Amino acid sequence: MQADLVVRGGRILTADPSGPFVSSVAVSADRIVALGADADEMARQASRVIDLEGALATPGFIDAHVHPATSGLDKLRCNFDDADDAASAFDAIAAYTAGNPDLPWIIGAGWPQSWFPNGCPSKDVLDRVVPDRPALITNTDGHGAWANSKALEIAGITRDTPDPHDGRIERLADGSPQGTLHEGAIRLVDRHAPEDTVDDLEAGLLRGQQELLRYGITGWQDAIVTEKIQDAYLRIAGDDRLIGRVVGAMWWDRNRGLEQIHELVARRERSAERFRATSVKLMLDGVVENFTASMLQPYLGESGRSTGNTGIDFIDPAELNQIVSFLDDHDFQCHFHAIGDRGVRNALDAIEAARDRNGPSDNRHHIAHLQVVHPDDIGRFASLEAIANAQPLWANNDDYQTELTRPFIGEERFRWQYPFRSLLSRGPRMGMGSDWGVSTANVMEEIHVAVTRTYTDDQEPFGLEEALDPIDALTAFTAGSAYINHAEKDTGSIAVGKLADLAILDRDPLREGSFRETQVAATIVGGEIVYEGNANG
Ligand SMILES: [Zn+2]
Repeated sequence: MQADLVVRGGRILTADPSGPFVSSVAVSADRIVALGADADEMARQASRVIDLEGALATPGFIDAHVHPATSGLDKLRCNFDDADDAASAFDAIAAYTAGNPDLPWIIGAGWPQSWFPNGCPSKDVLDRVVPDRPALITNTDGHGAWANSKALEIAGITRDTPDPHDGRIERLADGSPQGTLHEGAIRLVDRHAPEDTVDDLEAGLLRGQQELLRYGITGWQDAIVTEKIQDAYLRIAGDDRLIGRVVGAMWWDRNRGLEQIHELVARRERSAERFRATSVKLMLDGVVENFTASMLQPYLGESGRSTGNTGIDFIDPAELNQIVSFLDDHDFQCHFHAIGDRGVRNALDAIEAARDRNGPSDNRHHIAHLQVVHPDDIGRFASLEAIANAQPLWANNDDYQTELTRPFIGEERFRWQYPFRSLLSRGPRMGMGSDWGVSTANVMEEIHVAVTRTYTDDQEPFGLEEALDPIDALTAFTAGSAYINHAEKDTGSIAVGKLADLAILDRDPLREGSFRETQVAATIVGGEIVYEGNANG
C-alpha cells in the first residue's frame, strides 16, 4: 500500500492502551494504515513525509467544553486581547466605539474581574467612553456584564427593579444599579440588544475554528449550542468548511419544562458527518467569584464569618433529578456545568436518580468545571460512571483564587478545589477542555497547569498533590475527551484503522522544556494538514 503521508523522526504519543509511543505513523487517505517500522518502510514511497526532528506528536486534541461560535464572534467585536488593565480596557472600548459609528449597540466581551474594584466596573466609567449609545460588555467568564446608563435605561432597570431569581443587579448604596450585572440579571439588558444572527454566528464559528486548529484541536464538544449556532454548524458542514469533528450540547432552557424534549429530539435529527447534537447542557450554578456557585455551606464574609448565602441552584434539585432521568431515557448525554460542591453533588444525585430509574446507559453523562468537590463525592464518579470534564487551567493561584475565592470559602474548601488527581486515581474517566472564551484555547498552557498546578513561575503551586502525570493529562485531552464525544472508535488515539487526526508539536515537552513554551507546529485532520505554524517539515 502507498502512504499519502508519513510522520516520523520523533515520538508519537498513542494514548492507546497498546503502548505509550510509536516512532512513526503512515496515513493513506484519511486513515492511519501503519505504525512504527511498517510505517517507516512506507516513507520512501510516500507523497509527503513530515520529519518531527525529535519533537512529539499526539492524537489531535479534543476540547470537551468550548464555545467557538460566540468566542470567535467576540474576537470580531469589542474585545480586550491587547489590554492588560482597566486603563487599556477603556482605550480598547473607545477605539472600537470610534471605529464603529453606525452600530446601534456596543457589544463586547472579555474583561477579567481582577481589573476592577470588587470585580465590578461601574456604569459611570463606561458612560465616559460610550455616552451616546447603549453598551453591554460581558466579562471573561460570561457570568457578569458591564452596562452603561443608556443600556440600563433601555432595560428600565432602576432602584425599584427586583433581582431576577437567577441573578443579581449590583447596586449603589441607594439601591440604584451600579453598572455590573450578575448571571440571570444580564438577560434584563441583553434581551433588548440586537440578537446575533446566523450570519454573525457563522462568521464567529469560522474564526473560532481557526483558533482551535491553531492549538492542535481537531474535535470538540460545543458547550452551548442554540438553534442558531446549530444552523451555523450545519451551514459550514454543508459545504465542507467544518474541519473539526463536533458534538453539540444543546442548551436546556431552565425557564421551561420537560415539553422542550420534543424540540431537542427534532434537533438531534439535524446532523452532518462532522456535527451531531447529541448532548444537552444543564447549567446548575454560577461561579464562586460572585457567590452564585451552589455551595453546601455558606460563603464567608469579610470578617470570616458565615454570610448565610449558599449560592444559587439554577435548577431545583428535585426537578433536576426528573430532567436528567428523562433526558437519559431519551438517550441524550447530559453535560453539566457544576462549580460549587452542592452543584457537583446535585449533578451526581441526578445521575444516580437516572441510573436507579433507567438502569445503566451508554449516554456518558459528564460534569464540567468541578471546582469545589466535597471529598465524600469523589468516589461516586466511578460508581455512577459519571465522567469528569476538567478545565485544568483554572487550578492555579491567580487573582481569582487569592483575592476573589480563598477569603470567601475558607481554607478547608480552598483545598477541595479541582481535585483532578484524586478523581483520576479513583478510576473515573476524565476528559479535558478549555472553556474558551472564558480561558485561552491553548492546550499546552492547560496541560502545563494540570501537571505543575502553576501558571507563572512565581506562583505557589495550587495543591501540588492534585497535579497530574503529563501522559495522563495528554490522554485525558485526547482519548478521554473522545470517549465523552462517543468518538473513541475513530479518534482520540493513534492506532491502525483510526482517522488520521494529529497534533504535531514544535518540541518534545516530555523531554525538554515545559508545556507552556511548547507550540503546535501543525494540525492534521483526516490526513490533511489544516494548520501549519513554524512547521518542522
Ligand atoms: Zn463554558
